[in-house]
Amino acid sequence: MSGNLDEKLQMISAYVDGKRDEIVQFLLEFISINSVTYNEGEAIRFLASKMREFGFDEVRVDPAGNCVGRVGHGRCVLLYDAHADTVEIGDPADWGMDDPLKAEIVDDVIRGRGAVDDKGCLTGITFAGRAIKELGLEGDFTLWVSGSISEEDVEGSCVKAMMEENPDIKPDYVLVAESSTNRLMRGHKGRALIRITVPGKAAHASAAWRGDNALIKAIPIMQRIDAFNDFVEDPFLGRGTIEVTKIDCKTPSLNTIPGEAVITCDRRISCGETAEELLAEVGAFFEDIPGVKAEIDEETVTTYTGYKIRAVDYFPSWVMAEDDPYIQAGAACFEGLFGHRPEITKWDFCTNATQLCGRAGIPAMGYGPGDETLCHGTQDKVPIGELLDAVKFYAALPLFVEQL
Ligand SMILES: [Zn+2]
Repeated sequence: MSGNLDEKLQMISAYVDGKRDEIVQFLLEFISINSVTYNEGEAIRFLASKMREFGFDEVRVDPAGNCVGRVGHGRCVLLYDAHADTVEIGDPADWGMDDPLKAEIVDDVIRGRGAVDDKGCLTGITFAGRAIKELGLEGDFTLWVSGSISEEDVEGSCVKAMMEENPDIKPDYVLVAESSTNRLMRGHKGRALIRITVPGKAAHASAAWRGDNALIKAIPIMQRIDAFNDFVEDPFLGRGTIEVTKIDCKTPSLNTIPGEAVITCDRRISCGETAEELLAEVGAFFEDIPGVKAEIDEETVTTYTGYKIRAVDYFPSWVMAEDDPYIQAGAACFEGLFGHRPEITKWDFCTNATQLCGRAGIPAMGYGPGDETLCHGTQDKVPIGELLDAVKFYAALPLFVEQL
């Protein structure tokens, strides 16, 4: 590492440590703004006003409702994304708190809804933009910082809308800021919801021979799904899975044999299988049963701005090679700041990287403060020390990536 770069890392560390109270205050205020999925408007307005206050060069809220801010205008384009929405609070009594939106600080850990997923990360990437501006670290890079919406319901779909609504933003590299206990993430499995419709013929149960019971016809299909284990194994992500998660049927009364049954399956994807390949795979389970159809679930969701998004329930996997230059730039940045190599591993859940890397093919990495196993629970919390380290990492990363 050059002496000059080393000095910049020390500047960043000192700056972030000096901003401790402001960073904590920002996160407490951010948590206090309820932003359950499809109701992120107030949180997005808060974020946009803070980006402006922090001296970002440009701040936009796109028609879908995502907030995007820019720092710098150099050659190498980075996009940092974290989502502004949270899951519901549930019953405050389960938290042992009066109000999970009024976060508490115990032993330097901030606890409240969204602390670990994903407002700590969003606070981190926003302060990284501020640090770059205030320390004059703008180099040959452009950093876009996005607070995206609706990740908890349709991961990937709102960042897809964001890229469509902001066609001038063409990132060379993406960082998905979701909790990872400050480990470097280079992939995760994808998922799909597959719906299999089994036709039948309704008839009175007292004269079943007049009909064709769709539920009974569905049984061998479910047994074949259950027995199937012929998944290609990815050396990093492991094997895919398929599980039957629901069966519905169309029947007008409980003394009628049903005229249609619908089997829903959760398919975990580890080797980049396309939607067509997944449908061909399940097709083998019913090739001897006429009229059965399989499809990937689709829905239209409406964001808080009234924007409609067609969301397909297919979220591809993504993997970056450990020796990829971008992943190695992340590792060098981490080592430069903290004096040792980071752990490089994978997430067990799906993030917006499914769209940005899995579909769009942009090189990605993941990094964020807080224990990712606490997401959505009542122990939703982030240690302040990890949060400050993450701000340092986010602020320093462009200095390494611009050299690629
Ligand atoms: Zn999240």
